Amino acid sequence: MFQFYGTTWYDNNHNNVTEVIHVSELIENRLETENTNERTGELHIREAIQYILDHYQEARLSLFENHKMGNHVRSIFKDIIINEANLNQDHFYVKGSVGNGRWAEIPWISIFNRDITTTATKGYYIVYLFKADMSGVYISLNQGWTYFKEKYQTKLGRKKIRTTANIIQKKLNFTPDHMTAEAITLGGQGWLAEGYEKGHILGRFYSANNLPSSKELISDLKELLITYNEIEYMIGERTLEQFNDYLLLSDDGQFLEEEQQQEEDFQNRVQSILDEKVKKAEKNSMEDIETEDTPLPKPEPVIDQTKKERWPRDAQVAAKALRLSKFKCAFDETHVSFTSKVTGERYLEVHHLVPMKYQRNFNVSLDRASQLLALCPTCHRQIHHGTDKDKENILRKLFDDRHEKLKAIGIEINLDELCQMYGIEK
Ligand SMILES: [Zn+2]
Ligand SMILES: [Zn+2]
Repeated sequence: MFQFYGTTWYDNNHNNVTEVIHVSELIENRLETENTNERTGELHIREAIQYILDHYQEARLSLFENHKMGNHVRSIFKDIIINEANLNQDHFYVKGSVGNGRWAEIPWISIFNRDITTTATKGYYIVYLFKADMSGVYISLNQGWTYFKEKYQTKLGRKKIRTTANIIQKKLNFTPDHMTAEAITLGGQGWLAEGYEKGHILGRFYSANNLPSSKELISDLKELLITYNEIEYMIGERTLEQFNDYLLLSDDGQFLEEEQQQEEDFQNRVQSILDEKVKKAEKNSMEDIETEDTPLPKPEPVIDQTKKERWPRDAQVAAKALRLSKFKCAFDETHVSFTSKVTGERYLEVHHLVPMKYQRNFNVSLDRASQLLALCPTCHRQIHHGTDKDKENILRKLFDDRHEKLKAIGIEINLDELCQMYGIEK
């Protein structure tokens, strides 16, 4: 039974022969003593990885069923990771695979945070991914591709999974020393290999002929576990889908109300939609969407980290409102502002008359051009931060102008209720 580990094909490199045989014996011992709970104590993560890199291609030529390689990845390697990284198995689930019924081109072993996911098909996890040609292995903070493929179909899914990876890369406070966001290449043929490549967030490549020490490998893993924890914190109480939807908002041109950075991004996006250079080309297609004025159903909220419902605003709708304003302040068209570099027109900001945070109280959408106002920056700041008297003064004028239009899109409200929403005390 030792035949397979005989490795005489390593003859031209004596050091390797010694080491490989040594490791093979350790693994063989481990296989035989598994049931008696004895440990050799000498087989560490470096040797376990090297063994896969050195023997996987050979194993693939043999019968899949009951092959030692399967046991090595599923059981021995798994135990080593759990023991050497001190993983609490109530919190982490470790799983290795060499394929299902036939050899996988990319064998892997994953570490799942049970609160996030326990399957490689969705969610965030750490995974060791072996290159198809066994020239090395990646440790990767990765995401389940199947989730994106099923939710968005392959083409759009590819874009979405890259977007979540990029957003998370930017949000992370802690990045392990030796790790980068550089793309990974597994050299596989199948869509699973491609999914891993696209889902990669952060990681490191270990070359087969230059594996670091077990100590360094484990230290890398432990550091990546800190980053992984950070993702758990970001997700908070949300489901994975709620979290991903939230991350992907701005990718869909949606921005949240009441958030400084999002407000800035929102106004920027509105400006860029009206970019001079593209404005002319799109003019015709835009004119025909400027006629409808009927109620639209209430949109779905997204869920933030504290599980609070939030209501996205669509930058396209705001751009339409800005265009309809003819770039004049809705409170007083004589108000001056500077010229926007992007649009070449007077710079104005877009504001929702009935604030988006009250969307829950309405059965129709509040994100409609009819109730969006283009205001000069001063009026816009004032309607948010001015005195009650000034705010009421602006609101009265805007309400008079717009309340018929509000009715037409199904928003029933009077001036007093509107003033209340702006915290005006009477
Ligand atoms: Zn505003
Ligand atoms: Zn103004």
